[in-house]
Amino acid sequence: MTNNFLLSHRQEEPGKGVLYLVATPIGNLDDISPRAINILANVSLVACEDTRQTKKIMNKFSISNNLISFNKENSLKKIPKLVSELKIGKSIAIVSDAGMPGICDPGENLVNKVKSEGINVVCIPGACAAITALVSSGMPSSKFIFEGFLPKKNIDREKILNEISKNEKTTILYESPHRLKKLLGELLKFCGGKREILVARELTKRFEEHVGNDINSAIMFFKDKEVKGEITLVIKGEIKVRQQELNKADLKKDLDELIKAGLSLSAASKYLAKKNGIKKSIIYNLK
Ligand code: SAM
Repeated sequence: MTNNFLLSHRQEEPGKGVLYLVATPIGNLDDISPRAINILANVSLVACEDTRQTKKIMNKFSISNNLISFNKENSLKKIPKLVSELKIGKSIAIVSDAGMPGICDPGENLVNKVKSEGINVVCIPGACAAITALVSSGMPSSKFIFEGFLPKKNIDREKILNEISKNEKTTILYESPHRLKKLLGELLKFCGGKREILVARELTKRFEEHVGNDINSAIMFFKDKEVKGEITLVIKGEIKVRQQELNKADLKKDLDELIKAGLSLSAASKYLAKKNGIKKSIIYNLK
């Protein structure tokens, strides 16, 4: 057992006693890799979120294997058994209904437990709705925040919406179609209608649709429609006005007006600094 294992992928896969996290398509079944198919066909067993869903993929590629169910409801009960199977050298693949296991899908707990037991885990990468939407958005994608589904409780939800409204990084959210309009309304309230957004619907599928520009236009687009299909949202980070980019002439004009109205230089500078989110000294020194 070691955490610093070196796994030569040129060796025969699947390896004995290895847990494979296998990404499956998020719509277009051709998005599965030959490596994923090999793993699904040759591991000792495949633990799937929904066996019927995984069977569709297996049938499409004419493969069969032992499928067992592994989902949110039964995962805690099943983890010890899967760990024992791995310990006696069996190889196991874990797959969710679509995309990357562990991303808003079962897998995380199992990987955590398996790693703590010193068992090797290998990811067979593939489609993930969050990353597919992000790179399709054209928004900054080197640094981003993934929030998954927002919490249902208002207080927790508003805390995250507030963070999104201030964050400079691109945010990715998952949402169900019947809650999309409510979420867009909340985003309007917290971020304003001009914030750039992409509502990516049915990614990789036949009727893939990218709705966007800004929050206002996304709201207008879905206003009289029944929203169907799978939805991922990408929200551009807030662009903070940098101190050096502020228009000094405008600031000086505002400062002069406040002083003319009776404020001291110090009070007017303090007021404008707060309003523009910059240091008081920058305004003070304009005089
Ligand atoms: N593990 C998956 C992944 O890697 O993307 C995500 C699973 S999560 C339970 C399901 C959510 O992902 C959907 O409700 C939707 O928000 C998003 N999603 C999945 N497939 C999608 C698609 N084809 N187009 C847009 N969003 C999708």
